[in-house]
Amino acid sequence: MQNCLFCKILEREITANIIYEDEQVIAFDDIQPQAPCHKLIIPRKHIATLNDVTVEDTYLTGHLFYVAQDLAKRLSTAEAGYRVVMNCNKAAGQAVYHIHLHLLGGRAFSWPPG
Ligand code: 5GP
Ligand code: ZN
Repeated sequence: MQNCLFCKILEREITANIIYEDEQVIAFDDIQPQAPCHKLIIPRKHIATLNDVTVEDTYLTGHLFYVAQDLAKRLSTAEAGYRVVMNCNKAAGQAVYHIHLHLLGGRAFSWPPG
């Protein structure tokens, strides 16, 4: 998708520190980490928001979560605990309109979120 930041990362037009990739998704370091571990996991398929996910994307969205837990284990944050977040639209603070799971770990998180 033209003018999509994360599609540009997928196409290697913009550099990111990619830590994982497979046929469906890639994961990379967030440029402005909000925790000692802050990774973004994105589908190769451009989907603007969670509202745009269809039933055909069910495996893909589940896979995002599977990769998140796998990375949490490999980055040694699984046992202590971590948070996965997907912001949807303006009120939730979505800034990049290509769905992504935030994987946050390495510190304690409060609830409710801000
Ligand atoms: P959102 O607010 O849409 O849920 O999250 C977007 C995330 O993308 C933010 O955490 C932000 O720091 C991250 N981000 C924005 N621009 C870039 C970039 O150019 N490279 C990387 N690696 N992350 C980015
Ligand atoms: Zn995109």
